[in-house]
Amino acid sequence: MKMSDILERRKLTVSFEIFPPKQDSGFEAVLGCVDELVTYEPDFISVTYGAGGGTSANTVRIARHIKNAGITPLAHLTCLSSTAEEVRRVVDELSAQGIQNVLALRGDRPKDPTFVPPGDFKHASDLVAEVLRRGDFCVGGACYPEGHPESAHMDSDLDNLKKKVDAGCSFLTTQMFFDNNMLYSFLYRAQAKGIKVPVIAGIMPVTNAAQIKRMVELSNAYLPPKILSLVDRFGESPEAMKQAGIAYATEQIIDLVSNGVRGIHIYAMNKSDVVRSIMGNISEIVRVAR
Ligand code: FAD
Repeated sequence: MKMSDILERRKLTVSFEIFPPKQDSGFEAVLGCVDELVTYEPDFISVTYGAGGGTSANTVRIARHIKNAGITPLAHLTCLSSTAEEVRRVVDELSAQGIQNVLALRGDRPKDPTFVPPGDFKHASDLVAEVLRRGDFCVGGACYPEGHPESAHMDSDLDNLKKKVDAGCSFLTTQMFFDNNMLYSFLYRAQAKGIKVPVIAGIMPVTNAAQIKRMVELSNAYLPPKILSLVDRFGESPEAMKQAGIAYATEQIIDLVSNGVRGIHIYAMNKSDVVRSIMGNISEIVRVAR
């Protein structure tokens, strides 16, 4: 089913994100994780894409597994480091497998300063247009409640986001954020720019101290004092940290749903036990709000 139909039908969507293994040896474990996630009846499961294209085949294979399990897959696809021909090959493969939803991303710039991108795609909006030209897809894009790290101003980032939506995005998924007020303010500003597509809130459960440092480096996300004190107090005790991180994510989700946010996307990080706990905490809330 297309994401646009799901988002129109449901009052609340709940979904998960997983990533493909770097090596084929990890493949079965990811499929096992999918098999558990499917039991929570998510509206869709998204699968990330290696920016260099290295894990592209695995993204398609996992998306197919999700589809065969009866859940709608959302396949991520990046473009900066790929030629148009490479991108078209993956898009055609998705189409051949009956995968109808693509999250079209630019991808991060490789750290290697000597790397010169092929130049066929500069922005995610170029990919959005290409995927839509190529087949019958529903295409979404990424958005950044705190602004994309490369953007000097939130305002220009929102102008660029509007271009991406105008290129044909039917929905947006947010970067992780830890302060819901960041999202509420973003939604208000996006509306004012004329961005009317559904925005799905990406929630990252912080379950270990090392992970949060890495995530903040990548996303520049603001860490409220409340989450910093959790890490200070429990960062050295893995099980306690995990429990605190699950509680924090649960609280974030409940606040978002109470305030009318209609899409919750849990960055599952292939940890089905974390999703199990969160879904246990919100099962009635989801049942009532859906
Ligand atoms: P864009 O929308 O192209 O934006 C990137 C920057 O360019 C922004 O600063 C924007 O303001 C600017 N810009 C955009 N259009 C224009 C324009 N027309 N003119 C001038 N400037 C412009 N990475 C992966 O490698 N694999 C994944 O699977 C993956 N999944 C992700 C999922 C989500 C929900 C999110 C939020 C991010 C994901 N990323 C993934 C990371 C993403 O690739 C990076 O954040 C990347 O730096 C930007 O991608 P984008 O699609 O948002 O790019």
